[in-house]
Amino acid sequence: MVGMGLIIRSSAIHAAGCYTMAPIRKGARVVEYTGPRISKDEADEKYQNSPTTYLFGVGDGKMVIDGHGTAMFINHSCDPNCETEEMDGRVWIMAIRNIVTGEELTYDYYLYDGDEDEARCNCGSVSCRKSMYSPEEIRRRARAAKRAAGKKVVRGGSRRRAVKR
Ligand SMILES: [Zn+2]
Repeated sequence: MVGMGLIIRSSAIHAAGCYTMAPIRKGARVVEYTGPRISKDEADEKYQNSPTTYLFGVGDGKMVIDGHGTAMFINHSCDPNCETEEMDGRVWIMAIRNIVTGEELTYDYYLYDGDEDEARCNCGSVSCRKSMYSPEEIRRRARAAKRAAGKKVVRGGSRRRAVKR
């Protein structure tokens, strides 16, 4: 079922998106999130000054997939039609409902470990949380912002990248 009629074209959500040219049944394994495995530290260094990354955290989060291939174009949505599943160190995009021909594929990025990136969400769904960060990460960032407001913030060090989960 891998690689079945997926195309990349411009998306209303963000830049490019991934669309299906055939119906996909709920529960289907749609496409693998492919790319070289690198350490989180390597990724931080490699993408220090890059506004866009396609990193996907695997295992305990010390390793990431440096996205390369179809799946990296799938956009985030707070009301997605797919989810990701990790099996033996490989990450698959799975359909969580029936998807019709021409529909854009989406999954919830549950971003974590971002630094200054705002990661605003424009998915337009009713349940949109206005951020691609996970609810836990949003709470963590809010607490950090509150703490930072109370004292002088020292900036510096390496900029950490937001990673999908
Ligand atoms: Zn949203």
